[in-house]
Amino acid sequence: MALISFENVTKEYGNGEYTALADIDFKIEPKEFVSIVGKSGAGKTTLIRLLMGEEKPSTGRVVFGEYEISSLSSKELPKVRRQMGTIFQNYRLLPTKNAYENVAFALEVAGVPEREIDDMVREALDLVGLSDKAYNFPHELSGGEAQRVAMARAMVNHPELIVADEPTGNLDPLNTADVIKVLQQINELGTTVILTTHNKDVVDKLGRRVIQLDNGRIIRDVAKGKYTIA
Ligand code: ADP
Repeated sequence: MALISFENVTKEYGNGEYTALADIDFKIEPKEFVSIVGKSGAGKTTLIRLLMGEEKPSTGRVVFGEYEISSLSSKELPKVRRQMGTIFQNYRLLPTKNAYENVAFALEVAGVPEREIDDMVREALDLVGLSDKAYNFPHELSGGEAQRVAMARAMVNHPELIVADEPTGNLDPLNTADVIKVLQQINELGTTVILTTHNKDVVDKLGRRVIQLDNGRIIRDVAKGKYTIA
């Protein structure tokens, strides 16, 4: 069974004056690594927000596993959202908490029993290669390190899906390579990954599935794709 399906999804803003997404129809199977590319304004963020339940489609359905995201109540949504780890361009770490505490906090909020938290946090920091920076605060980390903490936080409760929205947008090529390597490792462990990016090198080196959006429509969906602007 597909992990994600968009079924004839349309998203309009402003009383139908503006169509951000039109006739979006695709499936993503478990363990896939999918890059979503397209010019600024093509609809990438809207697609991610629909998947995360932050916006509802104007028409069509968004399905994640056994849940129709587009029809969940605001009470049900947080539980489903915990199965989606998210990382963003600007890391979104809490500045007053160190790396360890940032990762632990995600588990505390999710109601994980205190006695389980320490092992889970250490495992996640180890996965991203940051065990030695566990007690550094965000301002004591490089951009690449901060993003790896964000990945540890996204991964710590073993979600089925990682959504990485422009995760390397603020990073130099070396840190970009580190972050992508960790995403690949996470994927090899069996987690589905969705990556939105403008980085041609990253997509070409990955050599995985590429979905290209243009003007709110899918203009290309290829299994072993390259990044090309139509
Ligand atoms: P991308 O992430 O590919 O840059 P977006 O999904 O952010 O694209 O935007 C797609 C289009 O929808 C853009 O033209 C944008 O201006 C428009 N849009 C996005 N969010 C809103 C909103 N809340 N209200 C009106 N228009 C929006």
